[in-house]
Amino acid sequence: MIEDNFRNILKQIPEGVELVVASKSRTVSEIEEVISCGAKIIGENYVKEAEEKFNAIGNRARWHLIGHLQKNKAKFAVKIFDMIETLDSMELASALDKECKKINKIMPVLIEVNSASEPQKAGVLPENVEGILKEVLKFSNLKPMGLMTMGPLLDEPEKIRPFFKKTRELFDKIKAIYGNSLEWKCLSMGMSDSFRIAIEEGANLVRVGTAIFGKRQ
Ligand SMILES: *Cc1c(COP(=O)(O)O)cnc(C)c1O
Repeated sequence: MIEDNFRNILKQIPEGVELVVASKSRTVSEIEEVISCGAKIIGENYVKEAEEKFNAIGNRARWHLIGHLQKNKAKFAVKIFDMIETLDSMELASALDKECKKINKIMPVLIEVNSASEPQKAGVLPENVEGILKEVLKFSNLKPMGLMTMGPLLDEPEKIRPFFKKTRELFDKIKAIYGNSLEWKCLSMGMSDSFRIAIEEGANLVRVGTAIFGKRQ
């Protein structure tokens, strides 16, 4: 079933868009199955859970952190992940940079945008993204490469489209400002219900879990 689902999703993803398999709560053997079908990037939400899976699977896939990261877990996160998609504060940037220096690693990061400006939600408000980016660029061990957004949780995926569009516009604006001085190329948007819309709006990383593995318990 995982294999059929995975191939079905891949068919719907055009060239130039990469699939991040969102695997929170899934077992090592489920993840191994999807890797054997050709999955290249595994997205995990929690450092501890990712650590256990990483110890079993290692570098057979690339690992993206797609959940909120607490500063005090930065030390463990930098060892496992190949990209942090959820950079959402200067405090976290500072902690990540410090831990990366210790292990001599340059960490690709995406700034998570709270694209609907929801009060309780993680992510940087759209109007603060350029300011944060400017500061993040001062950290020599972080490499900002683009934006990530969840968008609001709405009953219909089509209703998320304006927030994907808004994130894309911000992404393009920053690209225009920095030009070739910044390798600004990742736009991570869209999940099982919304990845097709996200791709139409310019996403080139989509994070899909349920449509591959089935419903989470
Ligand atoms: C769980 C999760 C996904 C995948 O969601 P599905 O609806 O299971 O496809 C994508 N992004 C983030 C940040 C997630 O936590």
